[in-house]
Amino acid sequence: MCFIYNVLYNLQKKYIFVKKFFDRNMQRKSSNNYESYNNFFEAKLPCRKFLYADIVPVLQRHKTKYQVNLEGFSVLGREIKSYTIGSGKTVVMLWSQMHGNEPVSTLALLDVMNYLETVNALPLLKSLTVCALPLLNPDGNEMFCRRNAMGIDLNRDAIRLTAPESQILKGLYDRIKPQVAFNMHDQEQYYTTLPERKQTMISFLAPKYNVEGDINDNRRTAMQLISVAQDFIKPIAEGCIAKYSDSFMPNAFGDNMQLWGASTILVECGSAPNDPERLQPRRAAALAIIRMLKSIASKDYANIDIILYHAIPNNIRDNTFDLKINNIEIHLPSRGAFRADIGIRRYKGVDFEDFADFSTEYHVEGFGDLSQYGGIKVFDGSQCSITLNKGVKIGDIPDYTILLNNGTQVPINQLY
Ligand SMILES: [Zn+2]
Repeated sequence: MCFIYNVLYNLQKKYIFVKKFFDRNMQRKSSNNYESYNNFFEAKLPCRKFLYADIVPVLQRHKTKYQVNLEGFSVLGREIKSYTIGSGKTVVMLWSQMHGNEPVSTLALLDVMNYLETVNALPLLKSLTVCALPLLNPDGNEMFCRRNAMGIDLNRDAIRLTAPESQILKGLYDRIKPQVAFNMHDQEQYYTTLPERKQTMISFLAPKYNVEGDINDNRRTAMQLISVAQDFIKPIAEGCIAKYSDSFMPNAFGDNMQLWGASTILVECGSAPNDPERLQPRRAAALAIIRMLKSIASKDYANIDIILYHAIPNNIRDNTFDLKINNIEIHLPSRGAFRADIGIRRYKGVDFEDFADFSTEYHVEGFGDLSQYGGIKVFDGSQCSITLNKGVKIGDIPDYTILLNNGTQVPINQLY
């Protein structure tokens, strides 16, 4: 009886704590940054694809408020600089776009850098020294590819330090020894959360520092900060926040920084429907990071139970289609009629590391019972049919025509 009583007592205590946390946050939302985001949104770079020549003048503008340091050069000779602001004793480091085709991370970081120049950030900067390194892989950005100009994946180069960009990142880390580090990336548009199967707008991770997945003080701090951030951005990303896959990668920077002693937080900017420039993920990432900076300064994360972190839904890869046609009647010449779902995605091309967001070629990538998948666009096919004279294969270009029950014929590409 005593044991049961203790379990119930602890559960009740946990419930009261979690409820208090959410109530406190509801009050905070009245003084949030959602409305003022436009004031620090970097309007000079509203589009996802930008070139080095576009960002240089934007970064140049920060030299009046930030201390700028030339950290080194990319393989192709582009300058890589760090930008430091604040006088506090807690050192925070943020870097973005070690993968060249992940520019939203840099745009979100520029928004954060703008915020840190506003008067609202002054109290924060008494507690923190913030060092930002935007666009670690400028050559990859120029070619819109993941790797650097030597073909090295910088996020698998934390130990060998083969690439100059990796050496710059490690050199900066060793010099400033941050207590907290933010590793900013973009993720593909086909990730979803569970159970909603909505496109993941943003995902977070407190990376493991060993295979066992032990939780030491600095990893716990990262989990607590993420808990604070995900709760804060819920009103603008409800059901679209996920926890990134936490398999241990012994050569990745995030995992190693966690091992070297910084509380390390992975932030992955995802996608949202009808948002090709990924402005919603950009805003969510910027606001989440600002909230975490405030939390680091105020230490309001310190009593957060990491049960909140573990409760964040997982980030499920390849779990949605650009177009999902549900339950349509299929006519195959030799098989008669049956019902199936069809999943169609943009074609990535031959480089599987590419993102397919800008592709205009579509392929069939799912057929049959696709009820466990989501659809960025969903078409109810229950009153329609398709005749597939040549059958259907995964990888086909779906040049099909849908027959509606009123006799109208609709080419599938009109539904994209
Ligand atoms: Zn990445």
